[in-house]
Amino acid sequence: MSTIDFDKLRSRFHIPTRKVYLDGNSLGALPRYTQERLHQVISTEWADELVSGWNTKQWIDLPLSVGEQIAPIIGAASGTVVCCDSLSINLFKALTACLEVNEGRSLITLEDGQFPTDSYIADGLSQLLGADRCRTQSVDIAALTPETLSKSAALLLSHVDYKSGALRDMDAITAMAQSVGCLVIWDLAHSAGAIDMDLEASQVDFAVGCTYKFLNGGPGAPGFLYVAERHQEVQNPLPGWMGHARLFDFEATYEAAPGIKRFLTGTQSVLALSAVSASLSVFEGLAMQDIRARSLALTRHFITRWEQSTVLQSYAALVTPFDDAQRGSQVSLALEHAFPVSQALIADGVIVDFREPSIVRFGFSPLYNTFSDADHAIASLEAVLTSERYRLPQFQIRSTVT
Ligand SMILES: *Cc1c(COP(=O)(O)O)cnc(C)c1O
Repeated sequence: MSTIDFDKLRSRFHIPTRKVYLDGNSLGALPRYTQERLHQVISTEWADELVSGWNTKQWIDLPLSVGEQIAPIIGAASGTVVCCDSLSINLFKALTACLEVNEGRSLITLEDGQFPTDSYIADGLSQLLGADRCRTQSVDIAALTPETLSKSAALLLSHVDYKSGALRDMDAITAMAQSVGCLVIWDLAHSAGAIDMDLEASQVDFAVGCTYKFLNGGPGAPGFLYVAERHQEVQNPLPGWMGHARLFDFEATYEAAPGIKRFLTGTQSVLALSAVSASLSVFEGLAMQDIRARSLALTRHFITRWEQSTVLQSYAALVTPFDDAQRGSQVSLALEHAFPVSQALIADGVIVDFREPSIVRFGFSPLYNTFSDADHAIASLEAVLTSERYRLPQFQIRSTVT
């Protein structure tokens, strides 16, 4: 039984009035404490401490101390997570690490339809190193077998697919890959903070994630990198002074710090990390199993409403798996005119997003979304479709970010 009071939890966030916010999978809502804390960091720490703050306010430790806050949320051991740079850059580090651990193999396996930055980074690495040291193949995840991985150095997969919202079996896939000597990198962008997982029990090799989605760290907040303890001897391909064993000795030659710290490169944003740290404090004392149960209850409720609606049955197809065990924390519907429909919903105060070619995503953040949010979204979608309001010219215009 969950002991979480979800109304109280929701009240810890600033949610704009008269808005149904279903895009926490893209940018999490602002925790009230983060607002207060950032103000404090700027007006007392930065303003008054100035450069001393690196010591007196432990700014220098933030990438590792925030990593320690992330660890329990993803089932990682202490000393295995660092919060820095972006998911994309951390992925570059994880990929080169796999090639180093698995020397002798040069193939990186990706899934068809992978989030673009993931395949861009892998292909970019292949171009940089040359095809004999790194090449990529992309496979249909449904057809993933030990044979397809038997020559791979690494398999890179999203834990939850950003378009369909499908959740992958971390345990089974990791074990399958490792049984043929292939390492696994999990992209946790759409699962960290919403789905319970145990990276140690699943014996995951590497993982990367964002803090601005379900972890609510703020727009452009830094990413994180998980490196299993057994792989922490590898090199950082971007060795910078922040990962040096003796940072302020200013030695002419690089010597990597022991442990996860070596995956740091340069100076990180204290403001951004302070925001992430404050936002993560909302998770303290919450069991991820309870959060996952809430997420499933919300998406299940939304799917039931979709099933019961004759309008939606004829206009919108469910893309997200129906089975709880295979569903992340969003519901994706495929429909004609998906882009203008998403814009008409937003104009109605139901904040969703659109993904090519025909998907509207309804993201449910278990920390602050409610069953009534799901009901509102369904009612609004029915109204937009039956009124054909989405045909209005203003809903056809695309901004840079959709
Ligand atoms: C959001 C997301 C990213 C974003 O990467 P950044 O480096 O933070 O821009 C990467 N991969 C997946 C699967 C995502 O959903």
